[in-house]
Amino acid sequence: MSAPLDVVVVGAGFAGLAATQALEAAGCRTALLEALERPGGRAETVIGADGSAWDAGAQFINGDMRRVLGLARRFGLGLVAAPVGGRSAVHAPGAGHAQVRLALAEAEAFEAAVIAGAGRVDDAASLADLVGAERLSPLGRSVIRSAIAELCCAAPEDVSAAWAAEGDARYGSDRDDVEFFLREGFGGLAAALAASLRSAPRLGTPVLGLGEGTGTVQVHTPRGTLVAAAVVLAVPMARAARLAPPSLPAEARAALAGFREGAVIKLALRYAEPFWRYGGFAGNLRSAALPGLWFGDTSTGEGGTLTALAGGPLARELAALPAEARISRIAAAAAEGFGVAAPPLLSCDERLWLDHPTLGGGYSGHRAAGAPSGAEAALTRLDGPIVFAGTDLAADFPGFVEGAIASGEAAAARVLGKLGGAPRARQGALLAA
Ligand SMILES: Cc1cc2nc3c(=O)[nH]c(=O)nc-3n(C[C@H](O)[C@H](O)[C@H](O)COP(=O)(O)OP(=O)(O)OC[C@H]3O[C@@H](n4cnc5c(N)ncnc54)[C@H](O)[C@@H]3O)c2cc1C
Repeated sequence: MSAPLDVVVVGAGFAGLAATQALEAAGCRTALLEALERPGGRAETVIGADGSAWDAGAQFINGDMRRVLGLARRFGLGLVAAPVGGRSAVHAPGAGHAQVRLALAEAEAFEAAVIAGAGRVDDAASLADLVGAERLSPLGRSVIRSAIAELCCAAPEDVSAAWAAEGDARYGSDRDDVEFFLREGFGGLAAALAASLRSAPRLGTPVLGLGEGTGTVQVHTPRGTLVAAAVVLAVPMARAARLAPPSLPAEARAALAGFREGAVIKLALRYAEPFWRYGGFAGNLRSAALPGLWFGDTSTGEGGTLTALAGGPLARELAALPAEARISRIAAAAAEGFGVAAPPLLSCDERLWLDHPTLGGGYSGHRAAGAPSGAEAALTRLDGPIVFAGTDLAADFPGFVEGAIASGEAAAARVLGKLGGAPRARQGALLAA
């Protein structure tokens, strides 16, 4: 029999790590359970043979992401500025400069219109419906649909327009999200945060389900059952429904059922030189020919690195190909898109983020078209001992690490409210299986 617990936190992504840190700081006895053998969730850094760090998941930081920047400062992680300067490009074989300029302007105006419409969009409408209702040039329409597939990691037909509008309105900055990277990567930040906790995360410990006792929650794992006064469920919302006990209120159940997970593939294409700059391009390229594909310049030293993100149906199509065919298709799109002779590809790292047993897929979940709006509010105002956290529910920067941290902190504050402030450990006990 081990010491009693106040709170069990499920999931050691940034939401779970931040919740645990805040709960420990308030004096709670906590256990943080993680299915994977590492903390960080969709933030993972791969260290190459030469010691270089590659962020296979989250990478970009914006100067208004104060929680991420605060943690980086606290743990002494370095910031690297993203390359700036140059023109944005569109991969649209045969299109002239004027068509490209018009398409980019239409995409910008569409985004502003979506944000302006937050709170006024019908729940039944999909983003495809919003695009269909606009007067746009053919290339503008293709660029916007491509941007949606990449940014939402899903087909425009499948994504709730109300969800997109609310999420865009909650992006807490008027600046681009690609301003800085962490020298040690987001995985380095997750590892530092995990190491700073009083009670180390229990890795390789998948939670199989939750049950409720009198004033307690039971957390079932292959290693036994933990009992605590409250549980923070910091897992992707599309997965949370599988863990919640039958006693969860119907409104919360309906809210969870509306979440879908997306699909995205990330690649780092490395060249001897940043060839796109010879054409005056910033490296920022949106493909109209391969809808869902985006490139950005992530070069940090000598040579040139292009990061590619392929989201939505394109990710699923590419995932079915052998790695070599997938990489050459994407590298060919970059060369064609910039219209500049590309030097040979020196190396490429890639990671497929789809249909993972505990991470799901995509940057975050999204609400399906037709799902009720207010799902996030329904899940964050629940009164019971189970509290939901995760970037899907963030009040600012949803879909980003900053949002995950914000939602973890907010979940911890709700738990403390329920437990009546800084609690003494009371009811929990570890029951050996
Ligand atoms: C390719 C890619 C690029 C991205 N780029 C950026 C970027 O540049 N900047 C940015 O800010 N964000 C980016 N993101 C988004 C960001 O990574 C996520 O939004 C954020 O990390 C989500 O954190 P979270 O804690 O909410 O969820 P997750 O990171 O998904 O954490 C949930 C955790 O719960 C665990 N879990 C699930 N089920 C169970 C269970 N039953 N038992 C125990 N544990 C369980 C999972 O294993 C996981 O570790 C990117 C994401 C991807 C995939």
